[in-house]
Amino acid sequence: MIPFQAPTDEIFYSLRIFAGDTPRWDAELSQEITQHFAAFAEGVLAPLNEPGDRQGCRLENGRVRMPDGFGAAYAELATSGWQGLTAPEALGGQALDHLTAAAVSEIFSGANHSLQMVTGLVPGAISTLLANGTPEQQATYIPHLTSGDWLSTMCLTEAGAGSDLSRIRCKATREGDAWKIYGQKIFISGGDQDMSQGILHLVLARTGAPEDGVKGLSLFLCTSEVDGTRNAITVTRIEEKLGLHASPTCQMEFDGATAELIGDEGRGLAAMFTMMN
Ligand SMILES: Cc1cc2nc3c(=O)[nH]c(=O)nc-3n(C[C@H](O)[C@H](O)[C@H](O)COP(=O)(O)OP(=O)(O)OC[C@H]3O[C@@H](n4cnc5c(N)ncnc54)[C@H](O)[C@@H]3O)c2cc1C
Repeated sequence: MIPFQAPTDEIFYSLRIFAGDTPRWDAELSQEITQHFAAFAEGVLAPLNEPGDRQGCRLENGRVRMPDGFGAAYAELATSGWQGLTAPEALGGQALDHLTAAAVSEIFSGANHSLQMVTGLVPGAISTLLANGTPEQQATYIPHLTSGDWLSTMCLTEAGAGSDLSRIRCKATREGDAWKIYGQKIFISGGDQDMSQGILHLVLARTGAPEDGVKGLSLFLCTSEVDGTRNAITVTRIEEKLGLHASPTCQMEFDGATAELIGDEGRGLAAMFTMMN
């Protein structure tokens, strides 16, 4: 195993120089909290990195199985509250600052980048819900994310629609009171896994005509289960990559998956940028 030592001192040396005068940022407290995460990263996350990469993820009976030990490590991460670090306290978070979250994320990536890619989309999903969701959507979804019961994904990329998202073909249609999503997404990090009870997929889909380009795209919340039954979302393959074998990069089929619009129709790309940034 390649030994991992979290570069906490170096990170905080830089943060103090470049962000030391950030209002309401308590550098001492921030470093103390980060040191707790560093101990977890060195003792639990990093030792799983190499064996996890060797074992990789598997697709079994349509479900993604993570490498040995990843489920237990995620449970420890979630119960320690790291998934809701910056989320509002009223929604189950710790209301900490984004500089601390950045330091934690940096250390997580160094210790076990594969696992970080699967768990690390939650803060973006929470920010997207806070910026674009209704109070009901925020109250419904965010507590599941801060508690760690659910993880989240961002579903943008399609074959032929990677850098150029104006070419997205995945379609959302209104059927009765619900929206249904039809189409295929590729390269979706954490498209499925067996660590969390549920997954909240944030899906960019076309509600307008193809010639509307990005103005015809809207953002949807699509849960892995609806009323206790699996939603119509299937992982059809895990992409083979040069590395990051413990991060399931999934090809996904949406076959009339039930979804809920978040934000305004036709403003999906702007909402998704909150998630990506
Ligand atoms: C490990 C991994 C995880 C990923 N996870 C996710 C995820 O969770 N969700 C998701 O939606 N997507 C995900 N992606 C997909 C990723 O975001 C896309 O790969 C990316 O958007 C680029 O799309 P593409 O691969 O189709 O490349 P292309 O768009 O085909 O681009 C190929 C190359 O051409 C260059 N290029 C493209 N257009 C231009 C231009 N106009 N001018 C000059 N150069 C150009 C690009 O910079 C790139 O180097 C993941 C990809 C990887 C590898």
